[in-house]
Amino acid sequence: TQSEKLIAKYGFRHLSTGDILRSEIANKTALGMEAKSLMDKGQLVPDEVVIGMISTALDTYKGVNGFLFDGFPRTTAQAEALDKLLDFNKTSIGVVLFLQVPQEELISRMVNRAKTSGRSDDADENVQRNRLEIYSRDTLPVASHYRKSDKVVEIEGVGSVDDIFQLLCTEIDNKMSQSI
Ligand code: AMP
Repeated sequence: TQSEKLIAKYGFRHLSTGDILRSEIANKTALGMEAKSLMDKGQLVPDEVVIGMISTALDTYKGVNGFLFDGFPRTTAQAEALDKLLDFNKTSIGVVLFLQVPQEELISRMVNRAKTSGRSDDADENVQRNRLEIYSRDTLPVASHYRKSDKVVEIEGVGSVDDIFQLLCTEIDNKMSQSI
């Protein structure tokens, strides 16, 4: 939700690994078929697969006005690989927007989204629980990785879409004015 609003405002290139994987599934590619069974269970797709996708996207969209990574990096290994890729491209992460939302609220958002998204991984209670467990185990450490370089800003992710959007914009504007 917030990614769509941010790319509309700032003109960043949106790189959502989940969206790329869902389009591979829709196109019935070998990668998509391999990823589908993991995604249906709420498990992560192997690091090398998503890193390869991001590496290709960085080459494809060279010269754009910044990237918004969404759902990536989801493990410390992915974050380390991204650092190397960005280094190679003589760029780096500007800011990591860390949205804080209680688990019950996340579950209720997934259940609501399932009504329109058609995503089987939103609808099933066991899969929802699995996704949240994997998030705590594998993805939360990514915040620590970026805290080392002081890139993380924590944002209260509960409230109206517009209020949260304003908080995110303030942080991005702050970061952009610092880097000028
Ligand atoms: P999302 O659309 O970001 O919620 O991702 C949906 C599913 O795609 C996840 O539950 C994973 O199975 C897979 N996926 C998306 N991004 C990644 C990633 N960065 N690393 C591993 N698996 C991913």
